[in-house]
Amino acid sequence: MPLVHDAIVIGAGPGGGSAAWHLARRGHSVLVIEKQLLPRYKPCGGGVGPEVRGWFDIDFTPAVSAMVDAVRYTWNMGERVDAPLELREPLWMVRRDEFDHHLITHAVNQGATLRTGESVQSIARDGGRWTVTTDQGVHHARLLIGADGAKGQTAKWLGLAKREVVIGGAIEIEVNAPVPEPNVAHFEFGMVNNGYLWNFPKKDCHSIGIGAWGQKSVDLRTPLAAYTRYFGLSMDGVKQHGHPLLLWQGNSTLHADGAMLCGEAAGIVDPFTAEGIRPSLFTGMLAAEAAAAWFTGDAHALAAYSERVANEHGRDMKWAARVAKAFYAMPRLAYSVGITRPSATRTMGRLLTGEIKWHEVAPRALARLVSPRSLLS
Ligand SMILES: Cc1cc2nc3c(=O)[nH]c(=O)nc-3n(C[C@H](O)[C@H](O)[C@H](O)COP(=O)(O)OP(=O)(O)OC[C@H]3O[C@@H](n4cnc5c(N)ncnc54)[C@H](O)[C@@H]3O)c2cc1C
Repeated sequence: MPLVHDAIVIGAGPGGGSAAWHLARRGHSVLVIEKQLLPRYKPCGGGVGPEVRGWFDIDFTPAVSAMVDAVRYTWNMGERVDAPLELREPLWMVRRDEFDHHLITHAVNQGATLRTGESVQSIARDGGRWTVTTDQGVHHARLLIGADGAKGQTAKWLGLAKREVVIGGAIEIEVNAPVPEPNVAHFEFGMVNNGYLWNFPKKDCHSIGIGAWGQKSVDLRTPLAAYTRYFGLSMDGVKQHGHPLLLWQGNSTLHADGAMLCGEAAGIVDPFTAEGIRPSLFTGMLAAEAAAAWFTGDAHALAAYSERVANEHGRDMKWAARVAKAFYAMPRLAYSVGITRPSATRTMGRLLTGEIKWHEVAPRALARLVSPRSLLS
């Protein structure tokens, strides 16, 4: 008889690591299949809200590279605005090779089995059991969790590829150089339409990047190079890493017979901030909870997962999408009268750390953005 795991998780990013940790923690046998060797690089700014700590019994301190408690905004590299975030605790800046490896190592410590350097090629369901074929063999499980990110195939294989998302593109570079203000995150809004540039601090390294959504054939490299020079740094000899982003645009079905999607494979990225790590950790946790219920015979548990993601994440993403639409329709005005207000900075910081949620603040923010009179008041 072949070994049949309770669950196979495809992908060992934050979504897969979270699902695996929560499943293993409950005593379920879980196999994680990751096509890359770990630790692996992932293009990402690495901003993570410390809210996530409450979802795990893990000390994330060794995987946090820097802590941010202030931001600096610019418009076309001018009109600089410095603002303290005034948070209960600072925003984490992580390097994804370290952070993702830390999480999956803890999942393994809980009992998960990890196979790296092994790529899933196809999946098949027969007799209530999954057969997952990789470039190295076959594996079996009762349940499948697709956590294979924006470029993964599991959504397509499950017939769930038509998620409500807008595809964005982003480039990240890591420039190894001392960071003069390791507590400051930089955002630049005037150099790209429907997106922004960032320079996030890491230990002895700048994560500089650019993201833009909903447009085709945008030149991201020229503004990225100019923004890098703005910090007295150079892109010469630095590898540029492009990656798609699946930004939430509406609730989608995230489950199939004996299967779920979590993380960016589920299209959960915040359409205003492009934040995806925290939502991936969150949906990985919810998927594991749903799996545990399903294993006990709750036939509705996987459908309930789709509903729960819609209710608890989609509810906020709906507001984030509205704010993004209003903001990017008139970014110049929104920058000068909205973003640079001290109260807006405090709100954004509290959103990113998880102290508050979009549905609590977006109606008021939208009223300001769409009403010129309130913008000027
Ligand atoms: C440039 C850039 C900057 C970003 N900055 C931020 C930020 O500052 N903060 C934030 O919160 N979010 C940010 N994001 C978004 C964030 O990086 C993603 O949303 C997040 O990585 C999604 O996590 P995940 O676990 O779903 O997928 P991933 O992290 O992409 O992990 C998926 C894993 O699945 C593996 N895989 C894929 N296919 C297979 C297969 N067939 N077999 C086996 N394994 C497979 C991959 O190798 C990968 O390791 C950024 C994204 C980009 C592109």
